[in-house]
Amino acid sequence: MIKKLLQRVFKTKNKPAKSPNGADANVKCIPSQIHRIDRSLLSIGAIKTTQELQKAGYEAFVVGGAVRDLLLQVRPKDFDIATNATPEQVNRVFRRSRIIGRRFRLVHVMFGDETVEVSTFRGSHLSDEGQNGGESKIADSGRILRDNVFGNQEEDAVRRDFTANALYYNPATEEVLDFHNGVADIQAGMLRMIGDPVTRYREDPVRMLRAVRLSAKLGLKLDEVTEAPIPKLADALQDVPASRLFDEMLKLLLSGHAISSVIALRKHGLHHGLLPMLDMVLEQPLGARFINLALKNTDDRVLAGKPVSPGFLFATLLWHEVLMAWQKFQKLGERPIPALHMAMNDVADTQAEKLAINKRYSITMKEIWGMQPRFEQRAGKRPFALIEHPRYRAAYDFLLLRCESGELPSELGQWWTDFAAANGEQRVAMLQADTEPKKRRKRKPRKPVAAAASTPVAD
Ligand code: ATP
Ligand code: MG
Repeated sequence: MIKKLLQRVFKTKNKPAKSPNGADANVKCIPSQIHRIDRSLLSIGAIKTTQELQKAGYEAFVVGGAVRDLLLQVRPKDFDIATNATPEQVNRVFRRSRIIGRRFRLVHVMFGDETVEVSTFRGSHLSDEGQNGGESKIADSGRILRDNVFGNQEEDAVRRDFTANALYYNPATEEVLDFHNGVADIQAGMLRMIGDPVTRYREDPVRMLRAVRLSAKLGLKLDEVTEAPIPKLADALQDVPASRLFDEMLKLLLSGHAISSVIALRKHGLHHGLLPMLDMVLEQPLGARFINLALKNTDDRVLAGKPVSPGFLFATLLWHEVLMAWQKFQKLGERPIPALHMAMNDVADTQAEKLAINKRYSITMKEIWGMQPRFEQRAGKRPFALIEHPRYRAAYDFLLLRCESGELPSELGQWWTDFAAANGEQRVAMLQADTEPKKRRKRKPRKPVAAAASTPVAD
């Protein structure tokens, strides 16, 4: 039924337009009876921004992921607006707005807690004749290094990644302008790249990650032509700055669909450049169980609207790699704690070459790892000190995952759960016999150790 109506609208409302690569783009103007977007899902900011820009004589549309989500009856998490006004012109329309970004300038318009991002239509990087003398630059590999050209709406649509992301919704008329059959693709449950996928992935390899993430998140199937070149081009991710990869990976892991996204990353060979050791960890039953549990926990929390700690998440993804390195250093003769810290640094360094984990998260990650051996000490004053540690809760959750995955006896996790719930007297009664101090007194003076082994224990 919807398809038939769509076909009718497409026939009557198409108006051809020339896209910058010479191909005719058929703009479809789809009315609300067909797309059935629920206007109440729009934010106040999105409505006011488009209204004010239109009142000032400019074109303004809700664009990109928000329109796609609205068509899928999902409440968008934020709203992007596209306009033919320049950033300066947008800035003049809104008192509470500021121009941001050096490479491509956008405007943030503030409404209470909400920030709406307004971007001027971008032109093709192929032509350097943008309205405002912007500039573009392409590397030999085809990767776009700068993309700074203003353009018209057709050009703006063609440089977006997927057909489902190139839709423009006008809240005033409630019409959707569709340049690349995005509405039909969404109705058919399809995620399709605009233009030639190989060229588009070369221009920006992150689009491969977006393909995986958006298809997992939205339950859209990747179109065959869009999917086919990904494994061959996966290595191109190496050229993407490590910090951008981190941002994209974080979006993927916090999408609420981390498990299916990680499966898809592996299926397409994209994980090598992101989590280089993932294959090795997942090949071991314990490692696979641990990561699956952690990702499932994360997905459940995200979908329930609970906060998730990226530091914790990366700690779980890399833990079995740390365990392997920890064992290796102990076999080489290091004592357990220095060996753990050497393993942590090794893993963090190897990881940083591929995908730089933001420092504030990597600090949490190392704290969680570094506290793990302390859970095995259940005598004397040590448990009392550990439970007061500011990172105790995260480290304890991590311990429970280790127990649940079968790495540690569940009795250990239970002991800490009981210890936390107990009162002072009960806690004292729970303590195990303290054998450590005696051992310490007996210990012979230490031989000088190698420089690497003297890594301080940061806990
Ligand atoms: P999400 O729901 O995760 O926000 P999104 O598609 O809205 O998904 P954004 O990063 O917010 O993702 O991007 C907004 C829009 O900008 C996209 O819908 C798409 O039209 C365009 N876009 C983003 N990244 C790219 C890219 N790498 N190449 C081309 N277009 C892009
Ligand atoms: Mg978005």
